[in-house]
Parts: sequence; structure tokens; C-alpha cells
Amino acid sequence: MDLLQTPIEYLKGVGPNRANLLKQELDINSFQDLLHFFPHRYIDRSKFYKISELPKNNSEVQLKGSIISIKTINQKRGKRLTAVFSDGTHQIELVWFRGHQWIKENLKPNVPYVIFGRLNWYAGKPNMPHPEMEIEENFNKGFSKSLQAVYPSTEKLLAKGISQRVISKMMAELLNAIKSPFIETLPIGIIGKYKFADKDEALINIHFPKSQEKLTAALNRLKYEELFFIQLQLLIKNLQHKQKIKGYVFKNVGARFNTFFQQNLPFDLTNAQKKVIKEIRKDFGNGQQMNRLLQGDVGSGKTIVALMVMLIAADNGFQSCLMAPTEILAKQHFQSLTDIIGSLNISIAILTGSTKKAERTILAEKLESGTLDILIGTHAVIEDAVKFKNLGLAIVDEQHRFGVAQRAKLWRKNTLPPHVLVMTATPIPRTLAMSVYGDLDISVIDELPPGRKRIKTLHRYDSNRLKVFKFIADEVEKGRQIYIVYPLIQESEKMDYKDLMDGYESIARAFPQPKYQISIVHGKMKAKDKDYEMDRFIKKQTQIMVATTVIEVGVNVPNASTMIIESAERFGLSQLHQLRGRVGRGNDQSFCILMSSHRLSSDAKTRLETMTTTTDGFEIAEVDLKLRGPGDLMGTQQSGVLQLKIADIIKDNQWLKTARNDAHELLRLDPKLEAPENTPLRQTLAKMKAYKNIWNYIS
Ligand code: ADP
Ligand code: MG
Repeated sequence: MDLLQTPIEYLKGVGPNRANLLKQELDINSFQDLLHFFPHRYIDRSKFYKISELPKNNSEVQLKGSIISIKTINQKRGKRLTAVFSDGTHQIELVWFRGHQWIKENLKPNVPYVIFGRLNWYAGKPNMPHPEMEIEENFNKGFSKSLQAVYPSTEKLLAKGISQRVISKMMAELLNAIKSPFIETLPIGIIGKYKFADKDEALINIHFPKSQEKLTAALNRLKYEELFFIQLQLLIKNLQHKQKIKGYVFKNVGARFNTFFQQNLPFDLTNAQKKVIKEIRKDFGNGQQMNRLLQGDVGSGKTIVALMVMLIAADNGFQSCLMAPTEILAKQHFQSLTDIIGSLNISIAILTGSTKKAERTILAEKLESGTLDILIGTHAVIEDAVKFKNLGLAIVDEQHRFGVAQRAKLWRKNTLPPHVLVMTATPIPRTLAMSVYGDLDISVIDELPPGRKRIKTLHRYDSNRLKVFKFIADEVEKGRQIYIVYPLIQESEKMDYKDLMDGYESIARAFPQPKYQISIVHGKMKAKDKDYEMDRFIKKQTQIMVATTVIEVGVNVPNASTMIIESAERFGLSQLHQLRGRVGRGNDQSFCILMSSHRLSSDAKTRLETMTTTTDGFEIAEVDLKLRGPGDLMGTQQSGVLQLKIADIIKDNQWLKTARNDAHELLRLDPKLEAPENTPLRQTLAKMKAYKNIWNYIS
């Protein structure tokens, strides 16, 4: 057996208890996992401070001295443990808020220690919460006294005594146990080209750097390697995909597309829309199955593109379906497409969860006989019972709401898989899109229809509510409509529901009938009632729409000029951006008002500031990515691709590009990785267990 596959409890100094903690907290199960558990930074342990000369800020410092007293302090908010640490002339207080018991039992008074931690200043006096502590004698025996790795940790690990020092010791044990050099996984050519450390050097120096230079060489190599293998896998997948999967050819641009273009199209297409339609037509003609992602910011006009490519399918004798994540949105697509199609000879129907049985039967018949050209709906469309005569194109709107399994179902609907177009307004930065959607082709609508005014975005505190109400009244006076959105987050559903209802009541008081009419839509309502309310708003029978985030996706009411977001600090950036996209769809000036309390975390402040300073979805996505990290970005959680161990998609962007280019070039010269110098690559790929997981995501 491969030594690296050994379960972690068998490592010297670990055992079953610590092994469980490592599994739970850090997902470290084997020697291999520990080896690839990389430090997130390094500290210089060669330097010592005197307590009298400490910098008056929050930097991390290392001190020598000993503990002269320990006491437990009982406070309203729980106990804390403090110790006085002296270097002989001056003193500093050490503080622990958790894990007291363990620490108290293990601290040795009057023994020389080396301690390390972040300084805190209170009333002119320094203290150090949760220092790393090591008896000086042991410190001197330790591995590296200069650059020392700092590993990601959790409160629980610290509380159970698994400190940085303990992790470092495990790492040393591990390297000791493995002994034999690590096998090279990159081609020699690449290592030489970038002066990388070889695999063995890299893995040793990443944990125990011998010098700054060696550390840099190790870091670069491991980051590159991580990105390179991801790109290699994506590109191989893409190649296989291109070769293997045949698709229907739609070679005609026929009567219905042309008639629509000449007679029904209510506006000129933007250049970006034209470009995207061209790209899709090209896909339709090349005999391969299309798998395309259409990215376009909210309001950029993706729907009309969807319609026009469905007309091409119809002109070639194929059926299409358009799926939306919510019933409201499906209905709205159906309504607006029916309107815009007018008298054009094309048959279109809707299917959702609330479609009656009798209607379903009629629909099924039309679908199976092929008299229906376009089916619009929710995921009801892909249920097994729904059979098409000749499905040729499936469009998924706002795809991040769709599960993997749901998309897979589409493929079983015809002999060859239908062409797939997924549309999203989630602005995934290009760098990310490249790694997440590496095997999808990407089209971007990067231009808004002309005449749109930039949405003015303001942040107001709850205490200014009356002024905001006045603003609403003024807008309604001008004939405009208003959205007021409340958060609805699962964990606190009851509370949120109460907030919504309280809010609704106070709005109803401030905007009394009959002068004002208010709609309310939330997740607990029956679909029928939601539609009724939504419909009243669309028809301008109500001026104010009070809602939860059910209206977030896709809803299009161009006369709505103002979006008020309550408790905006509780929303994520991409959600705020989506919500704001509900206004600014007409030609008049639109507004977005972010309401919040005065108590804001620094992340919340950054989010609100970002919203007030930019409307660029890509810029917002970059900030979102920095705040939350790629793993949290909407729609990417399932991918696994972005759970990078060492590289950072944003910071190591340059390496990402380099790795992608190299992978490209390599596969161009040796598509099957048969050349002897590429043997390590082939073997590594075969071993990577993550290999499979990546693909579940898309197809
Ligand atoms: P999204 O990309 O967010 O789905 P929609 O397709 O809902 O955007 O389009 C937003 C609005 O812009 C709709 O009212 C639509 O009719 C309008 N629209 C789309 N394309 C154009 C265009 N080229 N010129 C003018 N208005 C357009
Ligand atoms: Mg849309």
C-alpha cells in the first residue's frame, strides 16, 4: 500500500483522539492529507523583543521570559484565564478566553518560555491573547528557528491543545516517517523553465523553509502545480467533449427567425446581443453538441437572445425548452415572449408545478406530436413524464439555481443530447469562469441596451426611515413603482417572517388605501396568490411591492424605479446586485436604497460601500470573491474545483494564466500525454481522486 494512504491516527503522536479532531476540523484523514495541509503564512522566529520595547500596535512578536502568576477571572460573559509574564524587567499580561482547563494544567510557572502572539493594547498596557507557548529548552531543540509555518486552525483545535507547535511536530514526524524522496509529478521541462523547486524540495520547504529563496521556489511550484493540473483536466475534458459528443445541426435560418427579426423585434439588438447570437449559430452548425454559458449582467437582455435562438431551432424542425428557477419567472417569460411573438407562427406553452392535470394531458400530446415549438417552465419541464418529439435546444435561465442532477436529466430527452445554453447574471470573474466552467464555452453580453441610466444607490440608516418614506411618496407621485425587499434566511425564518409582516404593516400605515395599493409576495404564499399579486404589480394596479427575495431573480417591471432593501447588511453582495438589477430597466432614473442598522461589521460596511460606488457586476464579483473566498461564491460550492489548497485564484492569477497556456500547449503537442517526458503527468492524473468529482458539476 502506498504509505501516503495510511490513516492519520497511525502517525506517531496522533492517535485516535487527535485523529478524530483532525478529521472533523480540517478534513485530514491520511498522511497524504496532512502532507498537503499547507501553511497559510510564515513568521520570523529568529527575532525577540524586550517587553519594554514592544511596538505600540497589533503586530505579532516573540518574547522570552517566564510566568510569575496565574489567575482565573469570572466575568459576566464567562471566565477568562490570565497570567503575568515577565522578561525580568517588564511584564505583559497573557489572556485566554477558552480552553482554560487544558492551559491551566499545562502551564509551568517560573520556567523559561518562548512565547509568540499578537499584541493588544489596553489603557496603555500590552497584553497578548492566546499566545503560542513553548518551553525555551524545547524551542532550542526545535526544527527551524527562522521562518516558521503557520497553519490554518480552528477554535476547537486550539481549545484541545492542538497548537501550531503540535501541528509542526506532526509534520516533522510525517516527513520523518516517509523518508524516501517524493516522486516528481511535473515534466522536467516545466521545472527548468520556471526554476521551480523539484517535488521533494518543494514539499519539505513548504513546511520547513530553509530560506526565503527556497520557500519562494516551493510556493511557486506548488501553486503552479495545483493550477496546472486543474487546467489540464479541464482541457482534456473539453477535448474529449468536443470529439465525442455529436449534436444536431440546425443549418437553416428560416422564415420564423427572419420574420421575427424584421417585423416583431421591438428594438435594435445591441452589438453584444448580435455577437452572442452569431456565436450560438456557429455552434448550431458544426455538428457538435453546444454547451454554452451566456453571462450577461442583469438587464443586459438575455431573454430576447434566448427567444431568437429558439426560433432558429423551430425553423429547423426542433423543439426548445426554456427553464426558469421560479414559477413567477417562468410565468413572466411566458407572458413577455407570448406578447413579443404576436402573430408569428410559433406555438408556445408553459408548464409549472401548478399546471392542472387536464392541461398537462393536452400539453403532453402537443409535445409528443411535435405541434408545440417552445415549452417554458420551471424544473417541471425536465420531469421524466415530460416527453418531447424532438427536443433540440434547452435553455436554463439563472443556472446557479439549478442542481446538477436536474441538468443531467435534459440529456435523456432525445437521441442525441440537445444543445444547452445556460444563462446567468451571476458575474463570475473571468479568471474564475475559466477554472469553473473550463469545459463550457462562454459568451458574454457586455453591453446594456442604450438609454439606460446608472442606478443611483444610497445607504441609509433605519433612523432615516421617514425621509425614505417621503422619497417613496414622491416617486409614486411621478407614476413610478417601488420594491421593498426583506431578507429571508432559512435559519431564522420565523423572525424574518415577522420582520416582513411588521414592515408591511408600517408601510401600509404610511401609504394608506385607496390612494396607495400595495402588493405583498413571500415564499409562504400559494403560487396562485403570488402570481395574482405579481400580476397586479406588473399591471400597475399596485404601486408598492413588499416582498422577500423571491423576486430576486429575473423579474422585469420596467416602470419600477426604486428598490429598497431592508436589513441590507444581511445580504451578500451578489444578492444585493441581483436585487438592484430589478430596477433601472426603463429609461428613467432609478434608485436603490440600502437600509441598515448602525451596527455594521467591517465586511458589511465594505459590501454596502461597494454597492454605492459601482454598478459593474464584475467589479462587485471581485470584491465578493475577496470577502468570501472562492469557495463561497454563489454557484461554485458544488464544483470542488475551487477548494484550492495553496493557490489563490485572485492573487495567483498570473500563475493561473501561465498554467493554462502551458497545459494548452502541452496538449496541442501531445494530446494523449504519450511522450516519455509526460509520463509523470499521465500517472498523476490517473491517481487524482478529485478527477472525477470535477466533472459531476457541469455535465
Ligand atoms: P436579463 O439579461 O437580465 O434577463 P432581460 O432579458 O429581462 O434582461 O431584458 C431587460 C429589459 O431590456 C427587457 O425589458 C427587454 O425587453 C429590454 N431589452 C433587451 N434587449 C434590448 C435592446 N437591445 N434594446 C432595448 N431594450 C432591450
Ligand atoms: Mg433574465
